[in-house]
Amino acid sequence: MKMEAFTVDDIPLIKPGDDIAAIICEHAVLEDGDVLVIASTIIAKAENELFSLDNINPSAQAIAIGRKDDKDPRLVQAVLDRCSECFVESPVMLVQSDRAHVCINAGVDDSNVENDLLADLPRDGDASARSIGESVEEITGCRIAVVVTDTNGRAFRLGQTGVAIGLYHAAPIYHWKGTKDLFGYEMQISEEAVADEVAAAANLLMGEGSGGNPVVVVRGIPLFTEEKTSARQLYRPDNMDLIKKALRISKKS
Ligand code: GDP
Ligand code: MN
Ligand code: MN
Repeated sequence: MKMEAFTVDDIPLIKPGDDIAAIICEHAVLEDGDVLVIASTIIAKAENELFSLDNINPSAQAIAIGRKDDKDPRLVQAVLDRCSECFVESPVMLVQSDRAHVCINAGVDDSNVENDLLADLPRDGDASARSIGESVEEITGCRIAVVVTDTNGRAFRLGQTGVAIGLYHAAPIYHWKGTKDLFGYEMQISEEAVADEVAAAANLLMGEGSGGNPVVVVRGIPLFTEEKTSARQLYRPDNMDLIKKALRISKKS
């Protein structure tokens, strides 16, 4: 078996209003079934989801958190403004972002953005993936999948990896339940988070710094699906999430 992953080279610095689909098609030759993996940072730039700390007035809560953790209270306020629930306040802010993700700092990111601006997560990662995917399909005539990524930390384990925060025609999860193992036994559980695995693989080529590689093509894996899919399918239902439950209990005590 073999899969390929390669960068789409010579992508410029993305500016608000840029047409990411058109830019990708100028720099890549795609095939049916390809998975286009796109860093959320360039989508935030194209969609003008950028902001400055200049006009933010921190609340008393933001000032207190900022003082405790040596953080700019305006950044703390920006995070508080973007979350529906704060699971951990200190030493890092782990929140339920109102853009449908559980992540540090509500996904607000200052790296690889110019002029002291910060990038938000795309407003709706699935909608961004769909809009880019449909345009790319129209331009190229190929059927493709799109995975929008961000870099996230993980519970328990050190280091960050790429994760999927927006999907178009890309399977979020493969279900192994009901299939047989090597010895003929039926698998009882086993859900493989394939969209996250592809995001992580692509992130290996993107890196986190000055590489200038926000778009990766992954070829040779059966991620494409005709079904309507969403990155939200990669989250457990809130009431079945043991970690959230534990964090809520520990916050109360
Ligand atoms: P995130 O994971 O979505 O937060 O994105 P990162 O900030 O980690 O950037 C991922 C990759 O995209 C890195 O290789 C960056 O250098 C690159 N990158 C970020 N913004 C741009 C841009 O506007 N143009 C180009 N060509 N590369 C960018
Ligand atoms: Mn980011
Ligand atoms: Mn990254």
